[in-house]
Amino acid sequence: NLDIRVSVPSDDELGSLGKAINNLAVETNRYRSNRSEFFANISHELRTPISYLRGYSQVLKQGLYQSEKEKQQYLNIIEDETDRLVRLINDLFDLSKMEEGKLDLAFEKVKLDDILEKALLKVSMEMEQKGLSLRSDIDKKISSIDGDPVRLEQIVVNLLGNAIRYTEKGFIDVKAWYEKNQVHVIIEDTGVGIPEEEIPFIFERFHRVEKSRSRELGGTGLGLSIVKNLVELQNGTISIDSKVGKGTRFELRFPAAE
Ligand code: ADP
Repeated sequence: NLDIRVSVPSDDELGSLGKAINNLAVETNRYRSNRSEFFANISHELRTPISYLRGYSQVLKQGLYQSEKEKQQYLNIIEDETDRLVRLINDLFDLSKMEEGKLDLAFEKVKLDDILEKALLKVSMEMEQKGLSLRSDIDKKISSIDGDPVRLEQIVVNLLGNAIRYTEKGFIDVKAWYEKNQVHVIIEDTGVGIPEEEIPFIFERFHRVEKSRSRELGGTGLGLSIVKNLVELQNGTISIDSKVGKGTRFELRFPAAE
């Protein structure tokens, strides 16, 4: 004899099941629309430099320029846009690895002061060209941290690059010190700043305060989201403080190595 008993869910249970399904549907839709927005952004970002490359190579091919100077200007555009494409592709590659949790970091004991010096050397020409001065106060005695030196340099170069890109005149300040088992790094500029209402979104992929300015200055809109990911993969935190017309300050904190 089969004894089949069916328990009928209560109204309450049905109600919460209904709510759960609803939430799942909302989440799934949000995921879908984020995904399609992301791909729309990528194709736009790829298409723009490619259309410049195509346009200016046609102009050169057909000899549609008035002078040698004009020709050089077009060649410079081609060079800049090629660089942007390479950066974009590298950034996208890093980002996709991170999202899959497959970005391999080569952890070792790293002295952040060495990384900062190296990064500063890399950007010094750019800083000089813009007439910006560097004020640095890097404590040589800060302890080591556990991190990947290549990725740490990428973080710092990125933040310094932004500081230079979004600053017309004044200073770039770099400070590093040890305090309460943590290594602190501050990168601060006297640039355009970021409006308060934009700050919560600033680490999102492709989020830019002024698309045209970022593009003009060679930005990809992916830098800060990669920086945040890389900082967190190395057990650090990043915070931002900014005022329009005054400047922007990023602070990094990493646990000191044992
Ligand atoms: P981008 O390649 O556009 O610079 P990021 O992800 O590095 O992309 O930065 C996102 C946006 O945050 C930038 O487009 C810019 O509007 C703003 N931003 C980043 N760093 C600074 C800074 N130091 N000063 C002012 N604005 C900044």
